[in-house]
Amino acid sequence: MDSARTHTSPSADAGTPATHRRALATEAVHAGRDDLVGRGLHAPPIDLSTTYPSYDSRGEAARIDAFAATGAEPEGPPVYGRLGNPTVARFETALARLEGTGAAVAFASGMAALSAVLLVRGSMGLRHVVAVRPLYGCSDHLLTAGLLGSEVTWTDPAGVADALRPDTGLVLVESPANPTLAETDLRAVAHACGTVPLLVDNTFATPVLQRPAEHGARLVLHSATKYLGGHGDVLAGVVACDEEFAGRLRQVRFATGGVLHPLAGYLLLRGLSTLPVRVRAASAGAAELAARLADDPRVGRVHYPRIGGAMVSFEVHGDPHDVVRRVRLITPAVSLGSVDTLIQHPASISHRIVDADDRRGAGVGDRLLRLSVGLEDVDDLWADLDGALGKRGNVAAPGRETLSRTE
Ligand SMILES: *Cc1c(COP(=O)(O)O)cnc(C)c1O
Repeated sequence: MDSARTHTSPSADAGTPATHRRALATEAVHAGRDDLVGRGLHAPPIDLSTTYPSYDSRGEAARIDAFAATGAEPEGPPVYGRLGNPTVARFETALARLEGTGAAVAFASGMAALSAVLLVRGSMGLRHVVAVRPLYGCSDHLLTAGLLGSEVTWTDPAGVADALRPDTGLVLVESPANPTLAETDLRAVAHACGTVPLLVDNTFATPVLQRPAEHGARLVLHSATKYLGGHGDVLAGVVACDEEFAGRLRQVRFATGGVLHPLAGYLLLRGLSTLPVRVRAASAGAAELAARLADDPRVGRVHYPRIGGAMVSFEVHGDPHDVVRRVRLITPAVSLGSVDTLIQHPASISHRIVDADDRRGAGVGDRLLRLSVGLEDVDDLWADLDGALGKRGNVAAPGRETLSRTE
């Protein structure tokens, strides 16, 4: 991935030939900061303003009209904090650069981001959603319960084309999926979607491992709470997409209020600068732990994606609640993508809100545990897991199973 080049090169870098594309690792550190040197700054400023003074109300009226027409970010100060924020905009610019899209729009959480997408499409009379299970538990719930007036058809990736209707506004997949790490052929699904926008939840892969827009996804969603923030201290969501869709998302964000706080925007921009390093280091640890788990008689199936990543899920032959109870170094907690390692039982926590039959049908079994591998030493993590798994030979071990690379 070191050689991965991002799509757009910043217009501001006059010293670099226009054809040169900066590598992802470079964009991660510099995107969203292009103006800093010219302003005599090193760290990005934090703008906490909720309102922006102006003696020119005619000018403000024109800017508000322009925003109402296109949703384009106002030139100059944002009028009011719900229209936009310069610190948050830096994070949006940087994430769009990393995902290779024209724009990105940040929200108060991943769920606020998904809600805004559903509201944009619903407001156009396109309320039907085609989705592939498993999804993050709350995304599944939002669609199944129809909280925003949407109607969902669940299908597998091969069934997407047949599930489309004239009122289908969105196709939704997660790859690798939460929590089974099942992978979807994004290019094939994007093709099956035709003109219907494909939204890929890229939270688990991050743009370091996968850039869905390159495979035909129109919308790329992140729970930025996870890897983008990366330190377990920011709740946020973001949608990377083309400028036209971004305008509609900004209008919905303005009207419904799910804005990201500027301090969170600052922390996310800072998080992005170490994203490639964190994801690569944690992935190396996760791959090693996946191999050790697959070789362990106390463990059944182990799920680890082909594209890699820092998430591992595995089924235990014993009681999964005992494993959660016994960890000491690893933190027993929901969420993922932090510098420290977390473990949780999806059937009890992250996917509890999904109907039990639907959950099991999507491969989220009652013995499945989900591990989000952090940056600790892998032998220390293994020592903790080893202890938490309990005595060897304590379980009636059905035949040992090997690491399964999920499709
Ligand atoms: C956590 C998560 C979400 C929801 O994001 P929040 O920031 O918690 O609202 C959506 N998708 C995936 C894959 C997630 O892991």
